[in-house]
Amino acid sequence: MGEKWLAACDIGGTSIKMAFLTADGDIIRKWSIPTDRTDSGAHIVSHISRSFYNELDSEGLTTANVSAVGVGAPGPADPVTGTISGAVNIGWANGYPLKKLLEEELELPVFVENDANCAALGEMWRGAGNGTGDVVCVTLGTGVGGGVVSKGMIITGVNGAAGEIGHITVMPENGLLCNCGKRGCLETVASATGIVNLYKMEGKDAPDARTVFERAAEGDEAGKRVIDRCAFYLGLAIGNIANVMNPAKVVVGGGVSEAGDAILIPLERYVRQFTFPRAMDVLSIEKAKLGNDAGVIGAAYLAKVMTV
Ligand SMILES: [Zn+2]
Repeated sequence: MGEKWLAACDIGGTSIKMAFLTADGDIIRKWSIPTDRTDSGAHIVSHISRSFYNELDSEGLTTANVSAVGVGAPGPADPVTGTISGAVNIGWANGYPLKKLLEEELELPVFVENDANCAALGEMWRGAGNGTGDVVCVTLGTGVGGGVVSKGMIITGVNGAAGEIGHITVMPENGLLCNCGKRGCLETVASATGIVNLYKMEGKDAPDARTVFERAAEGDEAGKRVIDRCAFYLGLAIGNIANVMNPAKVVVGGGVSEAGDAILIPLERYVRQFTFPRAMDVLSIEKAKLGNDAGVIGAAYLAKVMTV
């Protein structure tokens, strides 16, 4: 083979997505393995390395055919040491030395980043960002994930906590309690559970966000108010991010974005209301394109740019 491959993995609570990619970000081969959470996640690193070695073996290749490894992890990553904190769902203690352990197993340079940041890099590189280097990603799932890419680089901050869009305070008074311990976070009103929270505040109940959207589409006034409020809070947060970062694109993904125009049209109206006009001139809102592949593609991008 000619050009070396990039290896990437995206570690989640139930499975680890793994892939080999070309230096241009085309997926050559992808697969996944279950996440073994026994013994506080102590076997995860060796499972990842064994799986990479097995796949290379089956191609008649070795790690000499791989230039670097990018990893998305389910918690903030320290930008200098590559340690992971807050990955409680897979059992790792704070400061888990993921980069160091994987480098020892694989004997390759390894670069780790928070999974939401990897997804943002993936969308920037090969997804809705279309290669433009200034992109903000918001993922509206069970929680609200985010990543801010400026000039092609993820904004990490001092200890990896930058880009936590889900924890922007949008209800400064009487806000709901968030999983992070703070009150009034975007996540409490704009995630799938947040939409159900807003519906409860209207004195009504729904099993999930999809039901709220369905009822709103059928004319339910409370449902319509909830979607408008959700778009308002999201637009407030995104507008303020745009005022600081001046991105070309805001990419919206996750389950809630599947509602399509029902959320994107009011969102665009509120983003326009809250964004400085010169920043708004160059800004567009796009739906995420890469789905579950965003994480490995972004991890591969990280590995590529960190090794040049
Ligand atoms: Zn929070």
